Amino acid sequence: MRGLSGLLRYAGVLDTGAVLLGYSFAADGYADRPVRIISHAHSDHMLGLRESLQRSALIIATPATIELVEELGRLSMRNRYLFRQKALPLQYHRKISYEGEKLFLAPARHIVGAAQVVVETENGVRIAYTGDFRLKGTEIIMSPDVLIIEATYGSPRFRRPFKEEVEELLIDLVLDSVRKRPVVVYGYYGKLQEAMEILRRGGVEEPFVMPEKIYRVTRIAEKYGYMIDNYYMDTSISGKEIMARGRGYIYFAHMARARYRRLSGVSNIVLSGWEFREPVRRLDAVSWLVALSDHADYDELIEYVRRSRPRLVIVDASRQGAADELADAVRRLLGIPAITLPSNQPPETIMEYLGEELV
Ligand SMILES: [Zn+2]
Repeated sequence: MRGLSGLLRYAGVLDTGAVLLGYSFAADGYADRPVRIISHAHSDHMLGLRESLQRSALIIATPATIELVEELGRLSMRNRYLFRQKALPLQYHRKISYEGEKLFLAPARHIVGAAQVVVETENGVRIAYTGDFRLKGTEIIMSPDVLIIEATYGSPRFRRPFKEEVEELLIDLVLDSVRKRPVVVYGYYGKLQEAMEILRRGGVEEPFVMPEKIYRVTRIAEKYGYMIDNYYMDTSISGKEIMARGRGYIYFAHMARARYRRLSGVSNIVLSGWEFREPVRRLDAVSWLVALSDHADYDELIEYVRRSRPRLVIVDASRQGAADELADAVRRLLGIPAITLPSNQPPETIMEYLGEELV
C-alpha cells in the first residue's frame, strides 16, 4: 500500500490559494498548471485569475459560474477575451480527460453554480476538493484517497445549534415587516439570491428591487433553476414606481452597504453566517441580523469527512477559517490523518500526522 506522504505528490494547497489536483489541474488560485478550475464565483476563489488566463490553456467551471465570472470577475477587455477563448463550461458529473487524468465537477450547495472537484490520476489516485459548501444539499464524495476541505467555520466555537429554523424565521420577519415599511436585505452575491428563493418559497409575493449588478446575478441564478420572478432593477421605470409606493417591496443591497449606511424608515435585515448564538438577533429599533449561512458549520464539516471516509484530509489553510482546529478535530474525533496546507508546521510534525517517519 502506498504511504500517505506519497499522496502529497498529487494534492496540495499553495499560499496563492491554488488547490493542486493531480499533475494538470489547479483550482481557485494560480499555479503553473495547464488547467485552472474555478469552484465558484466568490472573489476568494477567483484568485490569480489574470495569471491563469495568461498562462493556463483551459479554464474549467460550471456554465453558471462561467457567466458569473464575467459579471463579478472584474476582467479587463483583454482578459475577458482570453476568458471567452479558454473557458470550458462543464456540467456536473460530466467527465473530461487531460493528459491521462480525469476530472469531474460535483454539486455543492453554496451559491449558484458552486462545484466540488474530483480528479483521478493516471495511476488511480482519487482526490476530491469540496470548495465552499453547506452540508444540506451537497453531494458527499465517497472514499477519495485525499479530501481537500474548506475550513471557514472549522472551530468548535463556530457551531449553529439552530439550522432549519433560520429560513422560517427570515420568512416570518420579512412578512411581518413588509406590510409596514420597505424591507432592505443585505448580503453577498449568491447568498442574496438564496434568500430571494427562500422568501418566494415561503410565500413572500411582494416585488424585489435591486441595483444593476445584483439584478444581473439574479438573472443568472434564475436561468440556472432558481425560482425568483417579480424582480426589478432600481433604475428601471417599474423599479422606481414600486419604490415610490413607500412600502410593500423588498430591496436587496450588497453587504458592504450594511456597514456604513443602514437606511432609516425601512426594516434592515443583515444576512451573516458569523452568528452562533441566535438565529435572529435585533441590532437596533429597525435592524435585525439573520444567521443565514452558505457554509457548513463545525459539526457539518466533521460530518462531511465522517461520511466521506477519505484516507487523508488536507484542510485548506490559505483562506479565512480555522484550518488547524479542523485538522486537529478530524484526527482526534474521526481517527483520520489530517494536515493543513499551506503549513507552518515542521516536516517532522507533518510526517507524524501522516503516521510516517522522516527519512
Ligand atoms: Zn464562497
